[in-house]
Amino acid sequence: MIVDKVVTTGPAFKVPSHLSFAQYAIDKLKDICKDKDYKDGVAVINADTGLKITFKQILQETVNVANGLKKLGVKKGDVIALCSENRDEFFPIALGVLCCGATITTLNVLYTKDEMTHVLNISGPKIIFSSEIGLKRNIESIKAVSSIEKIIQINGKPVASGIIEYKNVGAYVNPDEFEPEDVQGWTDVAYILYSSGTTGLPKGVMLTHLNVLYSAASFEKEEDPQNSILLTIVPWYHAYGLMSSINYILIKRVLVYLNGFNPLKYLSTIQDYKVTALAAVPPIVVFLAKAPIVDKYDLSSVTVVWCGAAPLSSETIDQTLKRLRNCKGIFQAYGMTETSLAATKDIDDDSVKRKPGSGGYPLPGVKVKVVDIDTGKKLGPNENGEICIKGPIIMKGYAGNEEATKAMFDAEGYMKTGDVGYYDKDGCFFIVDRLKELIKYKGHQVAPAAVESVVLGHPGVAECGVVGAPDEAVGELTTAFVVRRPGAKVTEKELLEFANARLSAVSRLHGGVIFVDDIPKNPSGKIVRRALKQRLCEKGKSK
Ligand code: AMP
Repeated sequence: MIVDKVVTTGPAFKVPSHLSFAQYAIDKLKDICKDKDYKDGVAVINADTGLKITFKQILQETVNVANGLKKLGVKKGDVIALCSENRDEFFPIALGVLCCGATITTLNVLYTKDEMTHVLNISGPKIIFSSEIGLKRNIESIKAVSSIEKIIQINGKPVASGIIEYKNVGAYVNPDEFEPEDVQGWTDVAYILYSSGTTGLPKGVMLTHLNVLYSAASFEKEEDPQNSILLTIVPWYHAYGLMSSINYILIKRVLVYLNGFNPLKYLSTIQDYKVTALAAVPPIVVFLAKAPIVDKYDLSSVTVVWCGAAPLSSETIDQTLKRLRNCKGIFQAYGMTETSLAATKDIDDDSVKRKPGSGGYPLPGVKVKVVDIDTGKKLGPNENGEICIKGPIIMKGYAGNEEATKAMFDAEGYMKTGDVGYYDKDGCFFIVDRLKELIKYKGHQVAPAAVESVVLGHPGVAECGVVGAPDEAVGELTTAFVVRRPGAKVTEKELLEFANARLSAVSRLHGGVIFVDDIPKNPSGKIVRRALKQRLCEKGKSK
């Protein structure tokens, strides 16, 4: 780690020899399948059904999907959407699309109609793969998107006419005779994922093949033993779940997954599969630290917990470690969708000092500086400011939104994260606050602007400002400050019913509604969310 006075840089990094993530993934899978110890080895276990999927099956299904998509006319530059809960078909579809030189965009299966329409209009996919759940919820909004030529249903009976069944898409090809399409790794987009960034509605984060390769290659340095088994319940439509899970498979480890969190199932899965590593978000770690039921299970196989997506306190870490007796650490990572997964992370190496509660150290090839929020001046160790990041993990930009892309970068080409933190004398980063609007609920993004526009749709509402109320169990509770229209008598109950019916589960007003006389605004009319948060902290929730 190099810590000069003002910029902390991760260790030097070898650029991957080729610049296609699809090529990298196919080469890795082929290598694993050739390895006599692994060729019939299990790569993924669906702990909900007990199904075991081998590396060989993933490779075969990936090339079949790619071949089938080519027959359907998919070519380099096309965008293909994938709307699904965590399922066995997820990775072969994602990798199959990349092998065609096309871009994959992943969608939350629980998006509401408006959320779905918003993101599909950003990425403009030609084909959408969707699970039955996704189509049952949103077939009408999907059909209304003009770019979509074909709908492929992954499971279940087709929910409408004209839908292609996934089982009819794959076309057999021998993996040894299959080569992914060439791409320009620096510029061609592998993933479009959604994030509201520092302000406004969700935007399409374009990650190039090179971005994704750097993130994948950083996993090759993992110290996890060869026989490690990772349990993940993080949703795969999100950068954290998608990239960490694929990267984990590609370093020859076993991935056990569950589609969602059920406390008993989670604990019994760890016990039954002798899981060694957990990919978690803070609410799961809080559960491990506090829930009495945890003591009823044998979790002695767990040696490491990875946690990201939101802050985690050192007290929670201490409490968790007391209960996971063979766990050497709760390792944290800090990053955002726009940094292709982690920008800083704990190093699993005893020679490097780990600092519980920190976000760890910059990844190879990544430069991080902290600047004064008002002046932009670079700050030294232990001084709080905005965290700014540069390096090969930084997104290409927001799809179709040059203005928002430009606003993210400073004059030195660093991306402004909207997060507040500091680094210490060893170059270890600590995240202490958020300048940006973003709310995090159980590690999921909630865009206040999107929630406000729903609440404002109620005829009794004149103004609305949405912020997150801190909550240990879930991170933040989305709370709406509302000014009623003159004469309107709308109650909290009515507003909650109205808004929650129109918002997906993660974006709902879990913190409730607070009626006020005014919403603080700056001279240009923007809501001063900091002042609203201050009101939350000072008064508590008074209605
Ligand atoms: P996302 O793009 O959904 O991954 O959200 C990124 C945001 O989550 C960051 O900008 C931070 O505000 C927050 N975040 C991610 N990791 C951490 C962490 N380790 N500590 C504190 N906040 C985090």
